[in-house]
Amino acid sequence: MLLSDVDAHRGLINGITTVAENDITAYASSILDEAPERVAAQLRAAVPAVVSQYGDAAALGGALFYETHRPKPGLVADLAAPSIGETLTGALGWAMTPLFRPDEFELGAAEAVNRLGGVVQKHVALSDRETIAAASRRDNLSTGVERFARASACSFCALMSSHNGSHWHNNCKCVSVPTWKDSPAPQSEVLVRFAEASDGARQALLDARRAHPEWGSLSPRKFLRRHPEFALTNRNLTRVMRERYGFAH
Ligand SMILES: [Zn+2]
Repeated sequence: MLLSDVDAHRGLINGITTVAENDITAYASSILDEAPERVAAQLRAAVPAVVSQYGDAAALGGALFYETHRPKPGLVADLAAPSIGETLTGALGWAMTPLFRPDEFELGAAEAVNRLGGVVQKHVALSDRETIAAASRRDNLSTGVERFARASACSFCALMSSHNGSHWHNNCKCVSVPTWKDSPAPQSEVLVRFAEASDGARQALLDARRAHPEWGSLSPRKFLRRHPEFALTNRNLTRVMRERYGFAH
């Protein structure tokens, strides 16, 4: 596979999620001046419909991406079911909070529209990622899936890409790339740079511990309980990546 194939797939999925986001944000904006309870009820019905419709398109995109690049024909990827379960319900609760507490948000109730766009983007894109992950799991030729973040990715996605993590945030433009022995994922300078940044951040946290005056006089566990900023957590790793490697977020 070529890097341009990965970018083409990212472009396809991005196109689908953008139309889905535009659909839901246009609808939400058009009903925003109704009572919050009414807006929420209408969105609770509309969002799963949008996620289903565009999620099916994203799943199809993922299946074709998988089947086209598999070195041998013979595996038909199953399309992932749309992500309209409890995770979406929970995310919707978060997204609609500004409807009910507009005073707490700079944009007031309109902040709910922004949040809805992100939630829809994530749940539509999940259909692509899940389709590829499921095909890879039942493909006896598969050597797994690799996460490809964009060059402009945030520190979290750079970290996730370097560890092949599978947490996705709203508006994440990472794509999953299937790999096979005879068709590995393409070389990517961006991913090499991200891996160096995440290894460097890890080493920096370990070095900073050793340089601390209390390190050595406490057990490592006690030390980290007292100084959690040195633990190798995603939060600390991404903080160091932003500080030392110029990630903007
Ligand atoms: Zn991402």
